[in-house]
Amino acid sequence: MLIADNHKLNMKRVLLYLYLCLSICSLTSCRGCIKPKKTQCTECNGTGYVEQYCRKCTGKGKIECIYCNGTGKDKCSICFGEGTQKCLNCYGSKQTTCSMCFGSGKNSYGEECFQCDGSGYEKCFSCRGKGYNECSYCFGKGYTECHSCLGDGYETCDNCEGYGLISRECSNCGGDGWVND
Ligand SMILES: [Zn+2]
Ligand SMILES: [Zn+2]
Ligand SMILES: [Zn+2]
Ligand SMILES: [Zn+2]
Ligand SMILES: [Zn+2]
Ligand SMILES: [Zn+2]
Repeated sequence: MLIADNHKLNMKRVLLYLYLCLSICSLTSCRGCIKPKKTQCTECNGTGYVEQYCRKCTGKGKIECIYCNGTGKDKCSICFGEGTQKCLNCYGSKQTTCSMCFGSGKNSYGEECFQCDGSGYEKCFSCRGKGYNECSYCFGKGYTECHSCLGDGYETCDNCEGYGLISRECSNCGGDGWVND
């Protein structure tokens, strides 16, 4: 008896709900109550977002270093890429004043200086007569490791954080993951 009464009450509630729902739905464009069936979005497999290749790095996850154009190298700022520096002992002249005759070419007896054969000059000992020395900053290479990419030539793409893919909301389901059937 009591169960039957409860059942009747429940039926009333359901009918009332349906009535309300239908009257609201007829006023609005909502069709959710009449056609509540939804299917999983096939565009995103119900996840609500789709992944696409990062446009900035074309999916590679890294971009060429703008400082070294991908070479990983910085031109040496000391030797300007030459790898050599002018000898500071002879200032590039390859020779220095003779240490024996102090440039006179003669000894104290007025004879030809045997050290420089009377020229008054001797070969620069610092550069061994070359006039230049290896750049001490880049060790003669002419370049140093790129300060920005540390020699890699590329940097991690900041757009996708190196992932190569960008997630965006699925336009088919609006990020819901479900679409109305
Ligand atoms: Zn250098
Ligand atoms: Zn020198
Ligand atoms: Zn001399
Ligand atoms: Zn670089
Ligand atoms: Zn990227
Ligand atoms: Zn979707």
